[in-house]
Amino acid sequence: PWTGLLEPEINGEVLIPSQHAKQIGKAKACFVILIRNHDLHEFRWTMRQLEDRFNKKYNYPYVFLNDVPFTEEFKKLSSALTNAKTEYGLIPTEHWSVPKDIDMDLVNKNMAKMKEEDVIYGDSLPYRHMCRFESGFFYRHELLDKYDFYWRVEPGVQFFCDIDFDPFMYLKENDIKYTFTVSLYEYQKTIPTLWDSVKEFMKKYPQYIEKDNSIEFISDDNGETYNLCHFWSNFEIADLNFLRSEAYMKFFDFLDKKGGFFYERWGDAPVHSIAAALFLKKHQIHFFNEIGYKHDPFMHCPAEETLQMKCHCDPDESFDYKGYSCTGKFLP
Ligand code: GDP
Ligand code: MN
Repeated sequence: PWTGLLEPEINGEVLIPSQHAKQIGKAKACFVILIRNHDLHEFRWTMRQLEDRFNKKYNYPYVFLNDVPFTEEFKKLSSALTNAKTEYGLIPTEHWSVPKDIDMDLVNKNMAKMKEEDVIYGDSLPYRHMCRFESGFFYRHELLDKYDFYWRVEPGVQFFCDIDFDPFMYLKENDIKYTFTVSLYEYQKTIPTLWDSVKEFMKKYPQYIEKDNSIEFISDDNGETYNLCHFWSNFEIADLNFLRSEAYMKFFDFLDKKGGFFYERWGDAPVHSIAAALFLKKHQIHFFNEIGYKHDPFMHCPAEETLQMKCHCDPDESFDYKGYSCTGKFLP
């Protein structure tokens, strides 16, 4: 068992540092981590880097979310890595279950077919819940109510550079609502009818489409077809109020009613990205060049020497302008 070596015991209660630290960062913001209990040790590796490279100076809180209760071990070992507050939330069943009108026979049939076609996670129901939750529900969790901005983090990702500024305040001060470090092409087989649904939505709700949008990032023929480009959403620093907006909530509900999160395998990355490209102004989407980041197998590593001096990654391995990246379409 954990012996509480980091902090003294008071009245028999082990005091975890996170229970009495002060937030220095000025934004109403948090890290949000959807995670399973068995991802604990992989996440500690990530969290150590995040703390060392950034958060030890700012003490932004962590919100961990799970579809089953967190274990005591998970809570103790994750909170022991930070001075910031850590919170642990259970996902309401309605946000992690198959809606009544979904035909499970058809879902099972389609999953078997995707498995035969070797589509990654093609036959996984939990993965579908995960994508739907990240698309439409995480930002409605009650633990996030008090925040305006979030930074999504996953177990096993790496942060390579000192982050000597506050990204949340950068978003706030520059009216930025969505940010990314890596972008790439989606597997067509996971989203055969997604774009048809998006086009139907655009026709039905033209009032939500921003005039100064970024449609050229997601379509090479002015909206006729989807070019499969998306921001890789395992990294996101973004504005919760963008996802809570009428446009986004209507968009998610519209897509959810189509059933594609289950019948196909729509990912939260294309869903967030298409929404950002259509509903936000160009300047409201930002590429965070300074943040060296890796989620296997792709990384972003800044090339500029002044930035490199604060990093531990090889810029030649950066994915930015490699064949399968879309970032070249975004940057001027
Ligand atoms: P990938 O990045 O697309 O390969 O998907 P991951 O397996 O990394 O899952 C994305 C995120 O959701 C990670 O933070 C996982 O820890 C989390 N996740 C995936 N499946 C589940 C699940 O069934 N339950 C919970 N609580 N978290 C999950
Ligand atoms: Mn992942």
